[in-house]
Formats: sequence, structure tokens, C-alpha cells
Amino acid sequence: MSSGGVCEVAVARTFLGTLAYSIPASLVGAVEPGVRVRVPLGGGTVVGVVDRLGLRTDRARKPRLRELRGVLDEEPVIDGVLLDLCRWIADYYVAPLGVVLRTALPPGALGARAARGGSPGPRTERVLRLVRELRTLSERDRAFGRAKRQRELYETLESVGGQAGVGHLVKQLGFSRAVLNGLVERSLAEIVEREVERDPFAGPVEAEARFTLTPDQLRVVGDLERLDAPGWVALLRGVTGSGKTAVYLEVLERQLRLGRSGIVLVPEIALTPQTVQRFRARFGNEVTVLHSGLSDGERFDAWRSLREGRKRIAIGPRSAVFAPVRNLGAIIVDEEHESSYKQSDVPRYHARSVAIMRARLEGALCVLGSATPALESWENARTGRYHLLELEERVTGHGLPSVELVDLRADVGEDGGRDAGDPPRDAGPRVFSTRLRKAISRRLDRGEQTILFLNRRGYASFAECAACGHVWSCGACSVTLTYHRRRSQLVCHHCGSTSPPPSDCGECGGPAPRYTGVGTEQVERRVGELFPRAAIARMDLDTTGSKWAHVEILEAFRRREVDILLGTQMIAKGLDFPQVTLVGVINADVGLHLPDFRASERTFQLLEQVAGRAGRGDEPGEVLVQTSRPGHYALAAAAGHDYVGFAERELGDREEPGYPPHHRLANLVVSGKAESRVIDVAEELSEWTRRLIGDRRLAGIEVIGPAPCPIDRLRERWRWHFLVKADRAATLGGVLRFLGEQRGQPGSGLRLEIDRDPEALL
Ligand code: ADP
Ligand code: ZN
Repeated sequence: MSSGGVCEVAVARTFLGTLAYSIPASLVGAVEPGVRVRVPLGGGTVVGVVDRLGLRTDRARKPRLRELRGVLDEEPVIDGVLLDLCRWIADYYVAPLGVVLRTALPPGALGARAARGGSPGPRTERVLRLVRELRTLSERDRAFGRAKRQRELYETLESVGGQAGVGHLVKQLGFSRAVLNGLVERSLAEIVEREVERDPFAGPVEAEARFTLTPDQLRVVGDLERLDAPGWVALLRGVTGSGKTAVYLEVLERQLRLGRSGIVLVPEIALTPQTVQRFRARFGNEVTVLHSGLSDGERFDAWRSLREGRKRIAIGPRSAVFAPVRNLGAIIVDEEHESSYKQSDVPRYHARSVAIMRARLEGALCVLGSATPALESWENARTGRYHLLELEERVTGHGLPSVELVDLRADVGEDGGRDAGDPPRDAGPRVFSTRLRKAISRRLDRGEQTILFLNRRGYASFAECAACGHVWSCGACSVTLTYHRRRSQLVCHHCGSTSPPPSDCGECGGPAPRYTGVGTEQVERRVGELFPRAAIARMDLDTTGSKWAHVEILEAFRRREVDILLGTQMIAKGLDFPQVTLVGVINADVGLHLPDFRASERTFQLLEQVAGRAGRGDEPGEVLVQTSRPGHYALAAAAGHDYVGFAERELGDREEPGYPPHHRLANLVVSGKAESRVIDVAEELSEWTRRLIGDRRLAGIEVIGPAPCPIDRLRERWRWHFLVKADRAATLGGVLRFLGEQRGQPGSGLRLEIDRDPEALL
């Protein structure tokens, strides 16, 4: 058989590698790398992407081949460079190429519908639109008479620009169908089918006030311009409020001038209209926002507009690194230290690493930006692999907010705020120190805004028996249950299972549990008790269930309808509200005790980020951080805004255990329902890997473990892990690939997860 007659196809299945097929004579010429094809697999047909013509050189012998069933595209759905990028990801992260391609292509491209030949179309929605204007009050009185709800609906429509989606009016705003029909019958409005996106990122934008860049910003922009040589990586470390975004805008503007395009990666939670508006204000219709709220059809449209070159700037979270822009000039990774850039499912890629690789493949500039760079990036910058650029001052010239650590052991503050309806809580938690309480009070008096931060949702994070010390935990996961007061439930934050709060202790027959470990729900309640006239909004996973809820909360805060914004890490980044003069951290110790080598780094980063929300306007900012460990170096460094000092100390601490960035790391997790099998397989696989390293005489690489994962049971699966640690990425890669290929499918319900460059070891 000639090599023109066979090809390798990547399908989105769990096994590594590609599958070989023969090309029927009628399809020769239509098959090329990057086109989608229908292929037989097992008893069915699936859609895959052609990886290459001819067979892989590592195929030991020529297999008996089945034939391709059809070709779906006239042109490749993915260009050569992006296909190379996907191959690199498959290789580096030990993931099936087909699954990588599924991640990189718009949703549905490799799905069952594609196999039948369909593709998503534009989304339409029924909207109610005003068609007649009632100018005067008397006209209105006459038109509506006693139909009060119809008048309300009419005025609602007026206030939102004359039209709104029927679903929105009925579901969110509570107007009945009869009221909608009433307006239509009075010929005041009509219902039309419209291609709409109810998208807060769409719509008109206010033009941005152009400011002159500060000398510091100009210096950085100039450096980046000189750096703009293919494949360069720059790390921009700029304190919060130093005007990094303005630098990104300049970089992108230059690229557009040169006829190129750009990608901006932001963490999903920082993808607020605030951030996006700044890019749209500058680049208008050149911008496409790729966010998780898009329907499949919208995503497909966005993807096509980039591919066809109609739009040249893509903004989005992690997966926007695959945006099919043409002639890429620059990729910006904002808040590059964010762990949400790492995908937890296969392919377990890190968008920062992929961005760097893509920039290299396309000859583009890559800019990593953060006030608190990941230690990996910092180390690369220090050793000259990345070009380091720094902005040490805020653009306002006001300096960073002053940060004070409030020792919870010394300032006992108010008591737990018991009331008759509460479960007993003798050793109950405390929410506010006197110091923080007074500071909030002052802000309310002065009409300034406050942000309160606590990275723990729910009411209380432990239910504990006062008599025997028993702590209630999830039946399916080895984690404690969180008490949610309003829902009156114990909830597992990992698997979501719920149970009613117990009335007694099942272990010792003692009384109902006491609830300890303050969560955001409790803070909200306590604020209500202490400051009854303050308007408070809470922003965490429990209050942002609906699609745009977080946008609405932030908008209300921006309009200053809210005095106190309380939330989890959702509120720590990217927010730029000049009227916020106080940031209170309810408990800085929450993340410090996690059994993970990045616990200190995460705590430092979060504190620095959240502190950065204060004093961004003309008034100076104050940050109060409540803690029981004021001596901890991560907290002390955050209080002094001392990134460099923190990094030095932390790098030193990681040297001895050999954690990243000193060594390259992979976390291998074996999981399954039968604990003994999981242990056996974890032991056997780690031993196998040790032997592989020994037999091949590989140097600078070692296996550690196995041991139970810190969370050793999740969703009824037991979890054991072992680590592979190496001096060199290439050595680690070789071992991981061999392990994945030979032993990647342990069988009988067991799973092996290979997590290279892990963000957490939990
Ligand atoms: P960072 O991203 O570093 O936290 P931003 O880019 O959000 O900082 O800038 C902080 C604020 O300062 C924003 O409101 C921005 O509009 C404003 N700003 C940035 N550069 C300038 C400048 N040169 N002159 C005046 N205001 C600026
Ligand atoms: Zn659970």
C-alpha cells in the first residue's frame, strides 16, 4: 500500500496515540492533515481529525486497516501551527491528541451531530419590543387605566432601551404571559423572533478617556517594542493599580497597526464587563469575547469571525489560547499566576505554558502580567529565560494601601452573635475584631465602600459534637461538611451531596453539633446585625448560580447601591472601584493550613490581590487582615507588599523538598471504588516506574510514594498518588509518556490521572 493510501486519525477517546485508516480511492486528495473525517470505531462511526498522511513511524507492523467513511471539510478546520500546538500538548501532558483537538475546536466539532453532518447555527430568542411611544403621563393614564402591571412592563421596557427577551421578562422579572399579551393587544408592543445574545459584554461601549502614559508605563511599552522578536516571553510584574492593562492595550494596538492580531487571556472570574469594556473601548468591533456564557452557536460564530480575520482581538479564559486568530502578533496572559489557567480534566494543560509555546511556534510576543507572579515565572525571569519588566508604583501616585495584621488572639472583638434561633455555639466563632468593626463603621459614616473577603462559603465549615469531638463528614468524600444556614443543610463542597442538620450526635448520642469555622453566609448575617442600615451584597458560588448574577452584583456595587461587597476569591481580582477605601480580610489563615506545597504562595497572592482593591481612587486605602498567625512570613510579606522578599523566602523553603520551580513535577493519582485495589495498583505502578528509571539508567529523576492523597476519597473513589520529580523536563516527559502508553489504563474501574506541572497536590 502506498503512503498516500493511509492516514493517522486522532479521535477523542481515552487511549493515547492515533488510529490508522486506509483512504478509499474516491477520497484520496480530499484527505489532508487538519480535516475532519468520519471513521469506523468499534461498532459505530466517530468523527476524528487527520493527524498525518501515511503511517506513524513508530507503528511496529502494518495493521489490517479499516477504511475512512467520509471527509467533512473541504479545508482543514485547524491550521498547521495550531495542529502542531495540539500535538505538543498531547505529547507534553500525555493526553490523547483527539481530546486535545476537541478542547481546541469549537464545541460540537467532533461530536455526534458532526458525525451526522450538522453544525450549530445562530441562536434566536423571542423578544418583546415597544412599537408605540406614550409621551405624556396623561396618555399613559388613559392607555393603561387600572392595568398597573402592564404599565410597569411598559416602563421597564422603556428603561432598558425598548426591548427585552420574553424569557427574561417572565422568568427573572416575574411578568406573567397575560401582562405581555396585554401590551401586544393594545398595539403598544410586538413579539419578534430575533437573533440575540443576551450578553453583558455585547452592546455599545463608552469611549475610553485617553490618558497619557506615565514615564514608567512608557518605559515598559518601549521595552516591549524592542523585544518584539519572535517567541520572546516577557514577565511584567506590576503592583496592583500600576496600569498593566494600559500597557497591554498599547502592545495590542501596535500589533493591529502592523496588521497582526492578539489574544488576551484572563482568569474566568476576572472576566468582568469592567475588564472587557476597556478593550472594547479601545478596539471596538475588532474584539471577540470568548466566555463560558456563550451558547454553542455563539461560540461557533465567534470562532469563525476570528478565523476569517473579521475580528483580530480575542479575549477569554483558558481555552481562548486556542483562538484561531490569523497572523498572531501577541498573547497576553493577565494574572498569569492564577491556578484557573490549569485545566483539571484531560488534557491537563496550563494555558500559560501553552501560550508561551504558541507564541514560539507563531513567532509572536508573549507577555505574562501579574502583581504576584507564579514562582515558576519569577525564577524564569530571574535566570534570564524571560525578560523581566517592572512597574513599582501605582499610576495614581498614592502608593499601595497600608496593610495591618489584626491578631485575632489579642483583639477578641464582639462575641459570636448568638440568638435564640441559633444552634448552641459555646466556643462559637468570632467574625469581627473591634478594629475591623470600627473601620467599617467609619466607612459607612463617610459614604465610602468596603470589600470584605473570606475564602470560605457557607455558614460554618465544621459541624462538631461538643461532647465527643466527632466531626460530620461526607459519606462519599473524605472532607468535612459545611453548614448552610439559609438552606438548613449540611453540604459537601466537593460532590454537592446534602443532608439535614443533625439533631444529635450519632457517635455518642450527645446533643446537636456546634458549628465552627466562619463562612461568608455567617459574615453576611453578622454584618446585617451590626450595621443594619448598610446595603450588603454577597458574591460567592452560592449567590452567583444564574448566568449573569455576578455581573449584576458588580454593577450594583459600581453604581454605589451597595456599601459592602462580601465575597470569596471571586472578588479578589481585576475589580477597579475607586470608591473602595477599606478591604477587610475576615480570616487570612483559611488557605494556609492546606497540605499543599503552594499553600503559602496562594495565601500571599490572594492577600496581595485583594488588598489591591483598596485605595484605587483619590482616597488612600486601608486593609485590615484578621489572622491568628500574624508571624507567618506569607502574611508579613503581604502586609509589607514585599513580593521579592516573599519569593526569596519561599524559593529557599522549596529547595530542600525539591518542589517546583527547582524541579519538574508530575502527580500521578490512582483512583477507584475498592480501596485495596487502589493501593495495590498505586504501589505496583510506582514500583514499575522506579524499575523503568533504574533499567534505563536515567539520572536526575525519582519516584516518591505512593501515599494516600490529602483528600483520599472523592465521590466514592479512593485516591492514592505518587510523584515523579526530575531535574529536566525532557527526562520527566519521556517517563510519563512511556507510563501513559504502557500502563495508562489500569482497567477494572480504576483510573490513572497524569497531572504534569500540577497546581495542587490535593
Ligand atoms: P493594573 O492592571 O496594574 O491593576 P490598571 O491597568 O487597572 O492597573 O490601572 C489602574 C487604574 O489606573 C485604571 O482605572 C486605569 O484606567 C488607570 N490608569 C492606567 N494608566 C493610567 C495613566 N497613565 N494615567 C491615568 N490613569 C491611568
Ligand atoms: Zn462529598
